Amino acid sequence: MPETVMTYDPDDWRLGAACRDLDTAVFFPESEDGAAVAKAVCAACPVRGACLEFALVTRQDDGVWGGLDENERRRLRRRRQDAARRAA
Ligand code: SF4
Repeated sequence: MPETVMTYDPDDWRLGAACRDLDTAVFFPESEDGAAVAKAVCAACPVRGACLEFALVTRQDDGVWGGLDENERRRLRRRRQDAARRAA
């Protein structure tokens, strides 16, 4: 059997994503029930933190990332900005 050659970046957090083989539409739900399904997948995802930081840094405005929907991420971003302002 030929040796398997790895051609991807092992540091890429997406490789460990629980949603890797799922339809991305699951993470762009149109209802709260749909969002709950996506969040349940995220809850068990080993790269949840990295995913959430990616979404915050790159300002992903839609969908569920790192277990948070767009409104939750907006609130988190605001809390972090407030904390940074207070610390300055
Ligand atoms: S946290 Fe959720 S959206 Fe992010 S990689 Fe994991 S399963 Fe996918």
